[in-house]
Amino acid sequence: MASMEMGEGQLGLFDEVQMAQTASDPKAVIESLRREIEHHSYLYYAQDNPSISDAAFDSLMRQLRELEARHPEYYDPSSPTQRVGGYVGEQFAPIKHAARMYSLDDAMDLEELDAWMQRTFEAVGGVVPLCCELKIDGSGIALTYNQGRLDHAATRGDGTTGEDVTANIRTIMDVPLRLRDDAEDAIADPAQPIELRGEVYMPKASFEKLNAQAEENGKAVFANPRNAAAGSLRQKDAGVTARRGLSSFIYAAASNASLQLEGQYQLLEWLRRAGFHVNPDVRLCSSAEEVRAFCEEALEKRDSLPYEIDGVVVKVNDFAIQDRMGFTARAPRWAIAYKFPPEERTTLLRDITVQVGRTGVLTPVAELDPVRVAGSTVARATLHNEDEVRRKDVRVGDTVIVRKAGDVIPEILGHVPALRPEGAVEWAMPETCPSCGSPVVREAGEAALRCVSIDCPAQAKERLIHWASRGAMDIEGMGEELVSRLVESGRLTDVADYYSLDEDELALTELNRHMKDGQRVRLGHVVAKKVVAEIQASKDRGFARVIFGLGIRHVGKTTGEALAAAFPSMELLRQASEEDLAAVDGIGAIVARSIHTFLRVPDNAAVIERLERHGVSMESQAPADFGEQTLEGLTFVLTGTLEQSGMSRDEAGARLKAMGAKVSGSVSKKTSFVIAGVKAGSKRTKAESLGVPVLEEEDFLRILETGQAPQVEA
Ligand code: NAD
Repeated sequence: MASMEMGEGQLGLFDEVQMAQTASDPKAVIESLRREIEHHSYLYYAQDNPSISDAAFDSLMRQLRELEARHPEYYDPSSPTQRVGGYVGEQFAPIKHAARMYSLDDAMDLEELDAWMQRTFEAVGGVVPLCCELKIDGSGIALTYNQGRLDHAATRGDGTTGEDVTANIRTIMDVPLRLRDDAEDAIADPAQPIELRGEVYMPKASFEKLNAQAEENGKAVFANPRNAAAGSLRQKDAGVTARRGLSSFIYAAASNASLQLEGQYQLLEWLRRAGFHVNPDVRLCSSAEEVRAFCEEALEKRDSLPYEIDGVVVKVNDFAIQDRMGFTARAPRWAIAYKFPPEERTTLLRDITVQVGRTGVLTPVAELDPVRVAGSTVARATLHNEDEVRRKDVRVGDTVIVRKAGDVIPEILGHVPALRPEGAVEWAMPETCPSCGSPVVREAGEAALRCVSIDCPAQAKERLIHWASRGAMDIEGMGEELVSRLVESGRLTDVADYYSLDEDELALTELNRHMKDGQRVRLGHVVAKKVVAEIQASKDRGFARVIFGLGIRHVGKTTGEALAAAFPSMELLRQASEEDLAAVDGIGAIVARSIHTFLRVPDNAAVIERLERHGVSMESQAPADFGEQTLEGLTFVLTGTLEQSGMSRDEAGARLKAMGAKVSGSVSKKTSFVIAGVKAGSKRTKAESLGVPVLEEEDFLRILETGQAPQVEA
């Protein structure tokens, strides 16, 4: 569902809540949590307009449940943990349910589900069949049939009393108004009304259409299909409900005794026969492994289903056993909802630390109480920059909402206002670099603060890590920890130092781990040998990686590649003017200036020279298939579009290089030929002014064919 932040707007409602609560006062925290949860339940159930995600809500609920379990002395029957969440609106007539409509207890991961299954098997004296169904993310509904005809329909409401939404339910096309004749055989007493239950949901397609229309008309959009379904069902005008494209899945009876059936799986078969829309993804499982497999499959197919599901409901199949197990205050003991890994959780913000990157940028980082989000543990999350910390108003000691979707980097969405501890202070960026103590600056137009000291050890370390990283020189084994130790021991200062590391010395490097006797673990000869071999191998990774690895500001991998193609050696790159650099496809004025300046800083030039001396390759590798080197000694510059051949300039350059030519990105007196395609601009003009011969595309194609450059008169 859409993720939302806890915004300022809610704060007003918490004015009476004493904001000054300390995390060490459990009673106050319990009370704040109860109020916070009640408030969100109201927005969710009564207004169909939640302001936080379900996952964040569940996380608060869980926090409250854990605290209440640890402090039974604060038990309160009106705590949100003790009731079925819901609301009975006044605009509908109340309907009392034939039997209570319960919620479900949840298992937040497969381990919790396993624990529940083991407990259940023990309680019932052995492994029993479990019926697995998808947990439909809709709105609970109770349908009462009298003499086989739909008599009335009610929402779940508070579990005991629901709202009469019969007229609206009648507009949902897959809800039968009359039971099919085939269904009669199982009905215990045809003279008695029979109450069936399920979920009304809004298919993803209807939801998108509805929200698109709302947006077009400048109206508020629904947060998710579940709230849209609940909102659509509770319309005063049934005509509106009819246009909302709702559907239903029915899966239960209020009383198992009303039907002569053995269990849940058989009930679903019967419901299908009776004419109801029953979800096809059902499995009767005879072991815990089968249940887990069903859950994993459901998670995989989740995104491809045309409606939202938020988990799997596992039910003891046998009705006789269900009856023996019974219910707690809010849920059946014989069923559990396995919830998919939440993408949002709440946790404590322990600290905000500041990291200095390789270009000197200071980044605030949230240090969190480790929490499982979307299947992995999150203990740190970037807060990007000072403005972002201000905007989110997160403070040390806050309970924050962490989001992590799939492989995406975790982020902090906001904080829970009612749980802010007393005296939590607004966070500010330090005025000096936490690594070297130099003053930090904010450059015009930038959100980031930067340490501009050339001697900043944190920057140096980050540059070293970057050089060895996979996208750059790919030195396996040279990870963050080893680099840190080598920096600390003074063996590494800049990237050229890698190439003079001594194997024996490296082997003695002490790591952060300790042996049993308290001594630090050393890297050892075996690993040191491998790392040194990797360092040697990195010399031939190619010029593009060298350019990227140097960590020039604004120069990423793609820019590195473009530069290496346009200026195939360090010598050519050094000679290039800012203008030449900016002429390369994808490189703008700011990037060009950054490269130009970098190469002229004496310290940088010295490092590059040392790298060259160590034998780090500073030339673009020619294509593997070398033909005859007939163009050796000639330098070409390509400009414009090669329309006839359809070749890119990079391809054309590679063909020339394969015959021994050099290809440069800029025209100088040393250029032998400029090959000008269509729309050639300044380079052609410059060539003409310098008297460098300009060739057309036909001439170029002839060179490729014959391997010979045209003769030029002296
Ligand atoms: P629930 O939705 O987690 O689970 C119980 C419900 O699942 C049942 O009542 C039933 O209607 C439904 N269900 C779907 N498929 C089913 C199936 N195959 N078999 C049986 N039941 C099935 O619990 P709840 O008490 O209805 O509501 C709590 C939910 O509402 C939580 O997910 C919570 O995050 C959300 N909520 C969110 C906010 C918010 O502010 N975002 C506020 C309140 C509640």
